Amino acid sequence: LVVIDHVDKHFGDLHVLKDIDTTVARGEVVVVIGPSGSGKSTLCRAINRLETIDSGTISIDGKVLPSEGRELATLRADVGMVFQSFNLFAHKTVLENVTLAPMKVRKLSKKAAETRGMALLERVGVADQAKKLPAQLSGGQQQRVAIARSLAMEPKLILLDEPTSALDPEMINEVLDVMVGLAKDGMTMIVVTHEMGFARKAADRVIFMADGRIEEEAAPEQFFGAPRSPRAKDFLSKIL
Ligand code: ATP
Ligand code: MG
Repeated sequence: LVVIDHVDKHFGDLHVLKDIDTTVARGEVVVVIGPSGSGKSTLCRAINRLETIDSGTISIDGKVLPSEGRELATLRADVGMVFQSFNLFAHKTVLENVTLAPMKVRKLSKKAAETRGMALLERVGVADQAKKLPAQLSGGQQQRVAIARSLAMEPKLILLDEPTSALDPEMINEVLDVMVGLAKDGMTMIVVTHEMGFARKAADRVIFMADGRIEEEAAPEQFFGAPRSPRAKDFLSKIL
């Protein structure tokens, strides 16, 4: 579904993505981990073209991502993105947050968008909050709304960049449970997270990044049980 082919990116003199080359199959759940500054967020943003790349190509469902234009908007609508800092529309209700884009981009009627929106809010366990503003919700609830909002566009792929790292500990699991549910339902997901429990439970593959490079790629059992590269061993010894 996603083919990343020899992608390089610099920020000025800083070489942040170095020859990134990997694919993500439909229905696959890939967890990306690695030290701070290793390029995980930049890679996610590049997949969604929130960030340009210097060379190489990224294609989604057989179509190479252009850098701009109408075609980009269409392709981007196929990719859901959930950030660490929820990024909900602060002055819209929870339900409006999940209905606006489908109405505008997918041309759904208000009624259809609301029916689907309520079903999604139900799925992530916040249907009873539909009429509130985001600020009236807990962090965990807001992040579940953000997930529902990305699902409302019926994306082919969802990127989640540290979706639980801004949350208080007691709210992390409610968000991880929703993510595990999505994984079980066959959603294609690329998840940057240091939640190793999620990686073990839901990931098909772990990508370990260090210094802008994919240092190691393996099934979770193998990666956590017997990491091959010294950098991965070192990283795991610090976080586990
Ligand atoms: P973290 O775990 O802290 O979120 P990360 O792996 O997501 O780190 P990135 O945010 O992708 O890392 O950053 C990779 C490198 O690129 C870092 O050295 C960062 O300082 C740099 N960088 C990121 N965004 C920019 C930018 N807009 N301009 C210049 N440098 C940037
Ligand atoms: Mg990051």
